[in-house]
Amino acid sequence: MAEPAPLPPRVAATLNALLTAEDPVSGALRAQVPYTHVGGGCGCGCATVDLAVDREAVPPASTRGDGLAADAWYAGPDDAGVMVFTEGGYLSLLEIYSVSSEPITTWPEPRFSRRG
Ligand SMILES: [Zn+2]
Repeated sequence: MAEPAPLPPRVAATLNALLTAEDPVSGALRAQVPYTHVGGGCGCGCATVDLAVDREAVPPASTRGDGLAADAWYAGPDDAGVMVFTEGGYLSLLEIYSVSSEPITTWPEPRFSRRG
């Protein structure tokens, strides 16, 4: 098996910036970030990454809130947003999207104008 790719610093920073809510689910997901690797990319060429957590290293968050865990809209570029998803209580996907037709190919500075 191939070594899992480490999490790029900008992806880790984005996750930490998204998962700031003071609730047990956000706290548990934040604790997973140091044990998270990139599991794959998106076929369209955008910066979206599949996330794979080392499940032996860290416990799952409560699965009650599975699905969309947090989202936000960037301060710049101001036509882009980001969403983090979980599966089985583990971080599973960090998705960047844009209302413009061009996919966003690099992770922007995690500065948000709005949170979901
Ligand atoms: Zn894509």
